[in-house]
Amino acid sequence: MGGYTGKILRVDLTNRRVKTQGLPQEWVSDYIGGDGFAARLLYEEVPGGTDPLSSDNKLILATGPITGTMWPMSGRCVFVSKAPLTGIWGESHVGGFLGPELKYAGYDMLVVEGRSEKPVYLLIQDEHVELRNAADLWGMRTDDVTAAIRRETRDPETQVAAIGPAGEKLVKFAAIIVNNARAAGRTGMGAVLGSKNVKAIAVRGHGGVTVARHEEFYKLAKEAHGRVRENPQAQQMGIWGTWILTAVKQEIGELPTYNHRTGVFPGWEKLSGDYIRPRYTVSDRACFGCSLSCKKVNYVREGPFRGTLEEGPEYEGLMAFGSSLGIADYPTTLKANQICNKYGMDVISAGGTIAFAIETFENGIITEEDTGGISLKWGDSNQVIRLLEMIGRREGFGDLLAEGSCEAAHRLGRGSERFAMHVKGLEVSGQDGRTHRSIGLSHATAARGADHLRSLVTVDQLGYEEVAAKRWGADKLPEIIDPYTEKYKATAVVETENAYCIRDTLIVCWYSVSWPPIFWMEDFAQMLPLATGIEEFGRVDNLTKIAERQVTLKRMFNVREGITRADDRLPDRFTKEPMPEGPGKGQTVDLDPMLDDYYSLRGWDIETGHPTSKTLRRLSLEWTVN
Ligand code: SF4
Repeated sequence: MGGYTGKILRVDLTNRRVKTQGLPQEWVSDYIGGDGFAARLLYEEVPGGTDPLSSDNKLILATGPITGTMWPMSGRCVFVSKAPLTGIWGESHVGGFLGPELKYAGYDMLVVEGRSEKPVYLLIQDEHVELRNAADLWGMRTDDVTAAIRRETRDPETQVAAIGPAGEKLVKFAAIIVNNARAAGRTGMGAVLGSKNVKAIAVRGHGGVTVARHEEFYKLAKEAHGRVRENPQAQQMGIWGTWILTAVKQEIGELPTYNHRTGVFPGWEKLSGDYIRPRYTVSDRACFGCSLSCKKVNYVREGPFRGTLEEGPEYEGLMAFGSSLGIADYPTTLKANQICNKYGMDVISAGGTIAFAIETFENGIITEEDTGGISLKWGDSNQVIRLLEMIGRREGFGDLLAEGSCEAAHRLGRGSERFAMHVKGLEVSGQDGRTHRSIGLSHATAARGADHLRSLVTVDQLGYEEVAAKRWGADKLPEIIDPYTEKYKATAVVETENAYCIRDTLIVCWYSVSWPPIFWMEDFAQMLPLATGIEEFGRVDNLTKIAERQVTLKRMFNVREGITRADDRLPDRFTKEPMPEGPGKGQTVDLDPMLDDYYSLRGWDIETGHPTSKTLRRLSLEWTVN
């Protein structure tokens, strides 16, 4: 097989044992790689009911068959585990160079299991794998850990995935930060590492990746790079990064403001790319194999956050620490993003949980007695920075917020639950189903909770009629591109989710497979046989089936944890509180018809939301019920 190293590295922390195992051939044909491999392993090896922070949970780092090749934007990898924040399927993708480095070291996957008695860091240098004492690193911020490990290994190219104080303190939305600024942010993967007493995973490899049909793959990959370079949307992304979205969201009335109360933010211009880039951006950065450079390094020259130098935040951070908290100030969002990077926390959940606290305070449900004397209010930059540090250290009121909005509301009670904007425990990202119906369905059904990356369909926001008509047929077009109707949204979500599944098995960057896509299933079907030598990957129907298998296996993981249709819900704000202003004024989400359509298309039972036995048989997943 081309593309794969054929090896899984297993590190047993409890017994300090390291071993490698062969990559099962059936995993390759049934799942391709990345998310798919991880789903298979997690389902089999982490039984239902496992405490995510116990030694029985496992942390997986997975790559795909084209990771580290010259295919464009193929430098990403994924951390997977049972999620501390939600208690269900957890995954978090990250860019940079870590994925290729793991492949060059000789492994398709890393599985970390058990629990170390003392703090350690895992060092992987090709076949040399070692658990090193991390007592001196414990308590450090992620940038300091990264620098210390590179000093110790005397190799600045060592790729370091580290946790900060938040991961050590088991903040439920703790992130793993790769090379200082790339976050595997969502669902609490950093807390899993912290619970295992692992401060960092450091990887250096000197091998390569061999594809099956080198010359043909090279030619196609070269063409693919050309398509990325010539794509107008990609070019915009290269200049503005995801900041380009602020203006789009404001225009369509979907910029989450005051904890998603409304989708229109008066101070939006100060959070837009046009404003930020000329004033603050000092350089562009790219992940492995990417010519877009969507990552921006920024510097604040004056004001209270003068001297802040940091990569990011992306659109989601601008939303989470800007519009959602009523803050029209870019330096605040940069400083907040920096704290999240250094403490190791997810920006969306951190911002969402602070927004929950402010609205709960505003409504008199909590008082200064609960907050330790802090009078919470919208638009207060210093307060946000203070709260983030308290959360990262689990100090005072920060200890409650470190649980995330869902659990914090559960503990507070008193009706605070209505201000916790989450799905299945994961804080809602920077979209709103009221003005963008397909995202309402995506948020409700995605395996890890309110997720904008597994099936985000922007066709009902951005149109691109020609491309949409070609894909779904001109007869469905009026409804497909209408953001205010539920009709046909499940069709668009399911097809997009399938394509994104393949994206996440390869693994390639989201921005090459978003909307309108640069690459889609047909392109992967053309490329994969050249990379792997496996001709079956050349059929779109086979790739679709592999994607369906992966979505359904993740669902079965969640079903085993008790998830049913009743959990595929949106907060009442989206379904019962009409959008108060903007182009979507008066809109709410009618979720149930979309859920009916979605389950039907997926072959899941409409009453329970569980995959039917017929579907499990069709996808060769009967073993999940035995
Ligand atoms: S588009 Fe951005 S996130 Fe994607 S690979 Fe390129 S630099 Fe990384």
